[in-house]
Amino acid sequence: MRPSGELRAFISAALSYARQQRSQDAERLLRSPYSGVSQAAALAILRAAEPGESPLAAISKERVAFPAADRTAALAFARALGGLDPSHTEQHIVRAFNLPEAAPAAAEEPPINLQAAAVPEVAVGLHARKEHFSASSLNTYVECRRKWFYRYLCAAVEDKGSAASYYGSAFHSALEELHGEFPRPGEVSAQTLRTKLQAFINSAFDRYGPSFETPIERELQKRRAQRTAIRYVNWLAEQAASAPFTVIGCELPAELTLEGFEFIGYIDRVDLDETTGGVTVIDYKTGAIARSAVEYREKVRAFKEFQLPFYYWARTAQGDRVSRLALVPLKDASLDVAPISLEVVPVPRNEAERSQATTGTISISDLERARTRMVEICRELTDGLLDHFAVTDDAAACQYCAYALACNARPIPPEMRFAR
Ligand code: SF4
Repeated sequence: MRPSGELRAFISAALSYARQQRSQDAERLLRSPYSGVSQAAALAILRAAEPGESPLAAISKERVAFPAADRTAALAFARALGGLDPSHTEQHIVRAFNLPEAAPAAAEEPPINLQAAAVPEVAVGLHARKEHFSASSLNTYVECRRKWFYRYLCAAVEDKGSAASYYGSAFHSALEELHGEFPRPGEVSAQTLRTKLQAFINSAFDRYGPSFETPIERELQKRRAQRTAIRYVNWLAEQAASAPFTVIGCELPAELTLEGFEFIGYIDRVDLDETTGGVTVIDYKTGAIARSAVEYREKVRAFKEFQLPFYYWARTAQGDRVSRLALVPLKDASLDVAPISLEVVPVPRNEAERSQATTGTISISDLERARTRMVEICRELTDGLLDHFAVTDDAAACQYCAYALACNARPIPPEMRFAR
């Protein structure tokens, strides 16, 4: 039998809740073994509750999918708690929660004096301190406001990087060297490009070597890059044969001022089509990307993606006629390099929403709307009215989040919900 002190504490917290309906009391009751709710289920409920919200809300809104026994226990607890009112006595509490009959005897023990809860701080608005914005900071904000808060307002955890991020940096560096030496890839043989790129990859991975956790990790990532490089050169040679182009530059600074908000970034590669004079803006992707041109365009339309729209407007402001935006996938060494390529068109074209094609179009009006939304987000971030940074409801966003340990309100992945 559990110590009567614990039971006494439960009754005291229940009486306190009956009088004041405070969520802290509800939480304390839920955590108690006398709640009838298992520890795992109680934890899931507390995680599902919004900050400052009573766990009752999380139960009644059924935010957590439980096994049947846990669900029944949680609902019974919620019913008992919700039925309390200020007139209720210890006897009511004992009956409501079906507590052991020995409960009144426990009253002989010295009462536990619960400390008064700390007065919550008054919420005040916060605002971005940064003088410059970047497309990736806006992407973070729309993906998860809480993550943006951790990264850009608190700088809460130092992101030390990972093998995947060092792979990306080393590969970008090797490609910059390649295109610096061969700005017109059509004028050299594919074999030369391949040999040179492999040499640049070797030297880039030597430079980034100490960043990798182990020499083996570095070697594995280098070999992955070498395999991907062969596919990259194949694509490059094909592209140069079908439409000659000149690489204007790599890692080019992109700066743009929109309604007083300054944006800054770096463009991986900018090409000039020698036949049409149009400019293609290219972003290398060493992580996951959209699988089709339509999917990427829909992300732009849904204001979930600002990278290429920002580059478009930055290069347009510099006087370029940007005719194409492209994402070049460099993640998977086993797949041919097949960029997601969007031709910029004056008016939207009808493209099948489910098209899996990697080429498609994006209209100037889509890019204008993205630009307008960028300014709106900057206003939100700087007007000092933001006093809450909601967590995402997409658990996939949490998978590699550096702040996951600190983030007790993160969504539970669907597979975990069913595993409970
Ligand atoms: S763990 Fe998930 S919810 Fe929390 S900050 Fe990261 S992405 Fe957002």
